[in-house]
Amino acid sequence: MSFDRNQLPDPVSYYESEGLIFTSRGKWRTTKCVFHGGSDSMRVNTETGGFMCMACDEKGGDVLAYHQAAHGLEFIDAAKALGAWVDDGRPAVQHKPTAMSPRDALQLLEREAMLVAVAAGNVAFGVVLSDDERKRVLQSAGRITRVVEMFK
Ligand SMILES: [Zn+2]
Repeated sequence: MSFDRNQLPDPVSYYESEGLIFTSRGKWRTTKCVFHGGSDSMRVNTETGGFMCMACDEKGGDVLAYHQAAHGLEFIDAAKALGAWVDDGRPAVQHKPTAMSPRDALQLLEREAMLVAVAAGNVAFGVVLSDDERKRVLQSAGRITRVVEMFK
């Protein structure tokens, strides 16, 4: 058994099935926040399923993260509830949640930004980066981009 992201429901139908009513159009839509009870502070990304409350700061990267947070479920239980926990003929393996906590994201950004800054400082003083160091800098850029995407 394993998690199959492709089986997650379409964000709009999922959120509507959770009783949310969208009061705006477009990619990011406005709705109520069930976490603190605000009537119009939640923004939902209709493409990725990401959500973010402008008032209480509750957020996550997809409908699975929402389902976990809204119903107090562990990752696997939420994936099962959404039909995204499928039999692939292999035994279950432990999966990490895909949505990072804001704290982890900030720590990652701090670490990667520091690494890039140090590399840039080296270059400024005439140090030639090795191939591995150059790859690591590119990896940092990739990680930063992914984290930013996660919270967009
Ligand atoms: Zn809220």
